[in-house]
Amino acid sequence: MTDTAQHKARLRAYFDGVGFERWSAIYGGGALASRVRRSIRAGHSAMLAQAARWLNELPHAAGERALDAGCGTGLWSLELARRGYAVRAADIAPQMVGATLEQARASGLAERVTGEVADLEALGGSYELVSCFDVLIHYPAASARDMLLHLASLSRGRLLLTYAPRQPLLVALHWVGARFPQGQRHTNITMLPDAFVRQSLAEAGFGTVRTHRISSGFYHVTLVEAQRI
Ligand code: SAH
Repeated sequence: MTDTAQHKARLRAYFDGVGFERWSAIYGGGALASRVRRSIRAGHSAMLAQAARWLNELPHAAGERALDAGCGTGLWSLELARRGYAVRAADIAPQMVGATLEQARASGLAERVTGEVADLEALGGSYELVSCFDVLIHYPAASARDMLLHLASLSRGRLLLTYAPRQPLLVALHWVGARFPQGQRHTNITMLPDAFVRQSLAEAGFGTVRTHRISSGFYHVTLVEAQRI
């Protein structure tokens, strides 16, 4: 197995096991004892709220196709479905896809959401909108360009994605954070330089329309909207 394949196999096992419990708790509505997790939940909610505001400004017709790559428990897939998109919710972890489809059923949106267990780099198809939130942070920087290029190849129109921006202060914060006693910490966060993301997207034929930084405790990401030129 290559390094990347091994990394993916580890992440898949994590997000389908202890990671599923951890992240569905963070993305769910129940009480959280850990301050770190509460800050991640707050940051992630703020990120999704900002993305939802941008989405409201995007013209789209009902039934347009959207891909949510690395859908997790489906919070964003459901946002898309509520706005009338035909959503393909894909995740490398079967439990995550299962949770998304269950949420879609519970919200009466099952008809607009199809699920697929797949590595995002193995996904095909063509979508008006491709989103990929809080996935790149889990991969080594060496994989980021290929992932960005692949995601871009699936979008005819827009791309919405997040990455952790590489900044000295955050490098220090994560160094400290990595030393907090957290039983199931699985990997470090990968931080990418803004220029690298912008250039990779440009290489894929996408112009960056706007970016927004979200910082909340241990959650620091840049949200990007890009458009095919
Ligand atoms: N996008 C969701 C979930 C973020 S958690 C949200 O913001 O709410 C990261 C998710 O990415 C996990 O569900 C994990 O299983 C998934 N993931 C990680 N690597 C992936 C890959 N290569 N292909 C598809 N999904 C992946």
